[in-house]
Amino acid sequence: MRELVRSGDFTLGKVVGEFEAMFAEAVGVRHAIGVGSGTDALKIPLKALGIGPGDEVITTANTFWATVGAIAEAGARPVFVDCDDSFCMDVAQLDGALTSRTRAIMPVHLTGDVTDMPKVMAFAERHGLAIVEDGCQSLMAQLDGQPAGTFGVAAGFSMHPLKIINVWGDAGVVVTNDDEMDRKCRLLRNHGLRNRDEMEILGYNSRLDSVQAVVGKWILRQIEDIVRRRAENAAYYDAGLRDVAGIRLPPRNPRVRNVYLLYMFFAERRDALLEYLVAHGVEAKVHYPVPIYQQDALRFLGHKAGDFPVTDRHAREVITLPVDQHLSVAELDHVIETVRNFYSRK
Ligand SMILES: *Cc1c(COP(=O)(O)O)cnc(C)c1O
Repeated sequence: MRELVRSGDFTLGKVVGEFEAMFAEAVGVRHAIGVGSGTDALKIPLKALGIGPGDEVITTANTFWATVGAIAEAGARPVFVDCDDSFCMDVAQLDGALTSRTRAIMPVHLTGDVTDMPKVMAFAERHGLAIVEDGCQSLMAQLDGQPAGTFGVAAGFSMHPLKIINVWGDAGVVVTNDDEMDRKCRLLRNHGLRNRDEMEILGYNSRLDSVQAVVGKWILRQIEDIVRRRAENAAYYDAGLRDVAGIRLPPRNPRVRNVYLLYMFFAERRDALLEYLVAHGVEAKVHYPVPIYQQDALRFLGHKAGDFPVTDRHAREVITLPVDQHLSVAELDHVIETVRNFYSRK
């Protein structure tokens, strides 16, 4: 950080390039492009594909706001598909979302799991669609040994403080193996500038802050440790909670290396459990109590409650426990005990 301050190189520059090289290597891709947020890391590849007004992008009905925000910021219309109990897209329902205006699919690897990408890719190929993966919750996750974010033409990752790799504010990364996608994203993040004086296309100011690149380099060195600790914590919870009557764990797909950004399960009397956990010092949360497709902001899409029944059921049943790398065994035990106590009362 001191070196950065002395250099005065506060936008782009050497440290951003170093961070991007490290990130590309960690994910196993040719190019990583640092941008201002995870949302921008989804919007910029869509813009690079030329997606805009009149186009439709298929995504999941249970995702975080940013996925839909990125599609809308690109000027396209979000079209939803329901999820399954892995919390990822139910790929069998893609057919029903396809129209003559569909240009791309944005599968969301939610909670640290990975969407069934071979099926999404086969569908996309059959219909001539691009795939931009929302990898924001699943950095370093894998399906059949292949990293999340390497199935589509591009993927977006977030380094928001609540994500797997967290910096000191907002930051995001686009990854791609496609040279032209890389070139366009680099233009788009920096006003479309080819060089200091020549603007090739209209773009944005969405550069990864050099200060965040310094933090990113520091934490990226710990990435393997972080995802291993998260997976260990999740396995510990699974063992401690599996037999609790009142709880159902989601399926654990043996083909997936899950990085457990969110340790989520299905709970009877969910709202009472949430209240009980919070009252006993457990930072439990619900992801997400009101599905995005039912939010006021998306009323123009014309959806109504019940359109995506699995998403609706999840909104009523899911609960999230803390699972990060900083938790001690005593803290994990406290969480398990508190859940068990809740279900054994009366
Ligand atoms: C966090 C997140 C994003 C991006 O969020 P930013 O806050 O813009 O970094 C996108 N999609 C999902 C599913 C996320 O969880």
